Formats: sequence, structure tokens, C-alpha cells
Amino acid sequence: MLRILYPHMYVPSILDVDPLELKKRGIKALLMDLDNTIVPRDREEFSQEVVMWLKRLREHGLKLCVVSNNGTARVNKLVAPFNIPYVVRAVKPMRQAFTKGMDILGVKHSETAVVGDQIFTDILGGNRLGLFTILVVPMSGREFWATNLINRRLEKLVLKKISSRVSHEDQKYTVR
Ligand SMILES: [Mg+2]
Repeated sequence: MLRILYPHMYVPSILDVDPLELKKRGIKALLMDLDNTIVPRDREEFSQEVVMWLKRLREHGLKLCVVSNNGTARVNKLVAPFNIPYVVRAVKPMRQAFTKGMDILGVKHSETAVVGDQIFTDILGGNRLGLFTILVVPMSGREFWATNLINRRLEKLVLKKISSRVSHEDQKYTVR
């Protein structure tokens, strides 16, 4: 029953998401969460490491789209300079925003991965559409109060549950 909450992969940081590994799995596009996945929630710019990572993904031909529950002002400011398309006010785990992201990029479900730091928005939303889901450990930074209040507590329970299913390799794990 909890399976819909399990990510396919769990990595310590977005920087551990390897374009070659994605390509090996037939993934051509990555729908990325913004806050605490590729940038700390209280920061106004990407780190140099993330900028290099984005560049590397693109060099490998991966298509990128940001799918964020946050609003236009913040997302546009961060993402537009990189010419990455985005969907804002996504209301994840609702499916529409992920579908919209795939439409923008012109990719199929089987070619799409979702990466995010929250089980109950990013992972659940991606899994509901049958996409390949990657959970990252949240970047540090101030979190939206409701995130702390509800999601993180439940996430702890889920993470505890899936920890027994994990196969460790280079600190990454494949859950199923
Ligand atoms: Mg997030």
C-alpha cells in the first residue's frame, strides 16, 4: 500500500543524479523540483555546482523542466536565465503539472524522471503517473512551515519503512 510513496532511487544530493545512469534507463527528460532540491529555499541563486550539473545534463542531451509548487516570481528569477522551461503553482502531487511538463518537452511517460526532495509531493505525484522517481535529501535552508508540520513527519515514517528494502551502492540506492 505504501509502494506509491517509494522512490525508485534515493540519492544524497541532486549532484548524485548522473546523466549517464538516467540515459541507461531510457530517460530523456527530467522534471525537477526547485526548492530544497536544486536550490535551498532561502537562496536566490543556484550554486556553481548545480550550474555545472545542469550544464552536464544538457550536454548529455537530457531535456529539463522545473515543476514547482512555488509561484512565478521566484521560479522565473532563478530558472529563466538558464532557458529552462517551468511549470509553477504545480499543486503536486496533482498530476496536471507533470503532464504539462512532459508536453512542453515533448516526451513520453516512459522517458521521464521526476526528481524532488519530498515524498508526498514530488515522489507521489511522479509515481501516480508511472514516471521514474528520484528522491534527494533536502538541501538545508528554511522550509515552508506547512512542509515541516505535516510532510516531514510522515516522510520519516516512510523512509524508515523503505530503509529495509534498500540496496546500497555508492551511497545511492535503488528501492525496487
Ligand atoms: Mg522541494
